[in-house]
Amino acid sequence: MKIAFYSTKPYDRIYFEPMSSDYDVDIHFFEVPCNKETVMLAAGYDALCIFVNDYLNEAMLEQLSQMGIKAVLLRCAGFNNVDIKAAARLNIPVLRVPSYSPEAVAEFAAALLLTVNRHTHRAFTRTRDFNMNINGFMGTDLHGKTAGVIGTGRIGQAMIRILKGFGMDIIAYDPYPVSGLDVEYTSIENVFKKSDVITLHCPLTPETKHIVEAKTIELMKDGVYLINTSRGDLIRTDDLIEGLLHKKFAGVGLDVYDEEGGVFYEDRSNDIIDDENLARLSTFPNVLITSHMGFFTKEAVHAIAKVTLENADAVQKGIELKNAVQPPSDD
Ligand code: NAD
Repeated sequence: MKIAFYSTKPYDRIYFEPMSSDYDVDIHFFEVPCNKETVMLAAGYDALCIFVNDYLNEAMLEQLSQMGIKAVLLRCAGFNNVDIKAAARLNIPVLRVPSYSPEAVAEFAAALLLTVNRHTHRAFTRTRDFNMNINGFMGTDLHGKTAGVIGTGRIGQAMIRILKGFGMDIIAYDPYPVSGLDVEYTSIENVFKKSDVITLHCPLTPETKHIVEAKTIELMKDGVYLINTSRGDLIRTDDLIEGLLHKKFAGVGLDVYDEEGGVFYEDRSNDIIDDENLARLSTFPNVLITSHMGFFTKEAVHAIAKVTLENADAVQKGIELKNAVQPPSDD
């Protein structure tokens, strides 16, 4: 199976190249992202493999269908970037890596929380400059505080385990509560109202787009911490900035951003930043932005490579596609 890999970085090659010899696959690594200009590069391949900031809309999937593409392989868990309904209509299976290391993302979410709370990112630069002043770095004990977890799937549950270790009380919202989970499920409004820390672990869907916006920010406690390691579009950035300007948040940790495509994963240090929201967010001392790297551990990247190649193998052998993304049931 000839596979066109888009948006590849050196670390993709390190894991995929040696492992690919165990499978009957021939991988070509493209560095360019997958978009309407580059989709033609997949001509002559059997499948394409894309990442979080690549996208496939209906027109592109039509093109891929005409090229004879047999499968779309996502080397990630989220699938909001592919028109799943169109892919199903065109009989192109879309396979993902549903779970590679929920702990990797949850541990990173906890790292963001600890960092914005205790200002270690700023302490690092101060002490490197031999400025040992601690003014402005006062944090708050997490022990005994309430954490609100939105989405109690694999990553949400891993985060709950970590937060419990800190001695936090956990409340949660999920339209599909997990039975036997030792948390207090409540309405999403209550999560917004009662939490000292809010951490987002739900997928991006039409229902979850902008769940954090002016009205829900208004519900939150003053001095709340907000952590988003899921998808940027869960937050309406204009409203987040407004909330920050009104000092609503003690700290905000963002591993994802609604306009991250084309910026995250790239070195743009020599460019003029033309994204005013990203530039504005970067000016708040209590906001920490990272470049969608919650997944980035050795264990997770190894698992992503293994499951992606197993998914390709299943397509090739015509066996059950257990990681195929199903189109929404109401369609
Ligand atoms: P999962 O499918 O195991 O869990 C998602 C949970 O969200 C489910 O329990 C589901 O019922 C719940 N949910 C669905 N709709 C909801 C709603 N309207 N409100 C609240 N909860 C809702 O997924 P996961 O593996 O835990 O991953 C969660 C998300 O994390 C992914 O969708 C992806 O966007 C993101 N992610 C980010 C990174 C990263 O590197 N930052 C890595 C992997 C995944």
